[in-house]
Amino acid sequence: MRRLKPRKSRPKPLRQNQSLENLSVKKILAHRTNLIDASGIRKVFALAASLKDPVNFSIGQPDFDVPAEVKAAAISAIEQGYNKYSQTVGDGQLLRKITAQLKTDYGWEEPSVLITSGVSGALLLAFLVLIDPGDEVIMTDPYFVIYKHVINMIGGKCVFVDNYPDFALPVEGIAEAINKRTKLIILNSPSNPTGAVCTQRQVEAIAQVARQKDILVMSDEIYDKFCYDGPCPSIADYYEKTLLLKGFSKTYAMTGWRMGYVAGTEALKEVIEEMTKIQQYTFVCAPTPFQRAAIAALECDMSGYVAAYKKKRDMIYEGLRDKFDLVRPGGAFYAFARAPQWAKNATEFVEKAIANNVLVIPGCVFSEKDTHFRISYATTDEKITQGIEILNGLADG
Ligand code: PMP
Repeated sequence: MRRLKPRKSRPKPLRQNQSLENLSVKKILAHRTNLIDASGIRKVFALAASLKDPVNFSIGQPDFDVPAEVKAAAISAIEQGYNKYSQTVGDGQLLRKITAQLKTDYGWEEPSVLITSGVSGALLLAFLVLIDPGDEVIMTDPYFVIYKHVINMIGGKCVFVDNYPDFALPVEGIAEAINKRTKLIILNSPSNPTGAVCTQRQVEAIAQVARQKDILVMSDEIYDKFCYDGPCPSIADYYEKTLLLKGFSKTYAMTGWRMGYVAGTEALKEVIEEMTKIQQYTFVCAPTPFQRAAIAALECDMSGYVAAYKKKRDMIYEGLRDKFDLVRPGGAFYAFARAPQWAKNATEFVEKAIANNVLVIPGCVFSEKDTHFRISYATTDEKITQGIEILNGLADG
């Protein structure tokens, strides 16, 4: 038998900067990776990397910390051994608490609930169980980024209904966009990126349209507690085929804990069961100790934080309205302002803002248009004041 020669040298380690072409990685990457274009946001972060102590209006998370009692509950859960998988569907006590809340809030008799790894987890599972290639999903433009890219990635088709310039829910436009390939309508109120809140009349009207055509509505209400001029009307109150998505990330400032849930009436039991099946083979479960902490979070009164954010909303709106075309946002912690005339598009204005130490995001990240820019006012009052002054100084070119 021929003996193999011992190797003379070890295989060369890969150089860090060896290009993708050399490695033919392009050949091994799935086609779907090309369907996600993250270049807009990457550009902002690349420009931002060199800034020292900028006014950061780009971040989509609260500037306060998780309430102390919720942190204590997480620590205690870990110490008590809640460190293993939970049931796929979620911790029993948390599920019971959420179910009771849904019964009170919407009068649902037998809600189905699945605890997910953030609302992002719920979105992926929902799209996977609902969308076949070629199916159409109606959403307003501007939209929350994840919707477009995940739907594209799984072969669905996004149908955008423009709701510039006032960002009011375009009920008629949505009704007109429905055809036999429509699988889903997405509502997001309060909205990321515009901060717009749907009125009761609008959600009732969409409920009527959806019921007539028998179409599912997904209602992403992750910002429901950040609603400043009255309660946040929910389509879940009016339509039994509402797939309701709620989160803990924003309300309790626990974006890193990855906690959210999806819920529906009896009519959507099977949808949630299918989502649970896919969770079992993907995420497995939401993080167990944080599910225990979420039970404590649901007991927390966050109204003081919300009042502080209402004040921030007022500061931003009052501070920028004279120099910018800006609709008063009713919720979330975003304002979506039109870039000044002198800029050829919002990206050009954003580059100028970043060069002046203010980080904002160009509207094209959330829209098919590049006319506006998103301001997240989830920062300190001092930074907001500073940011307003700088942006106003750039308004006239
Ligand atoms: N929906 C909307 C509208 C959001 O803005 C976000 C977070 N930016 C999410 C869903 C996802 O949040 P998470 O996964 O942290 O729950």
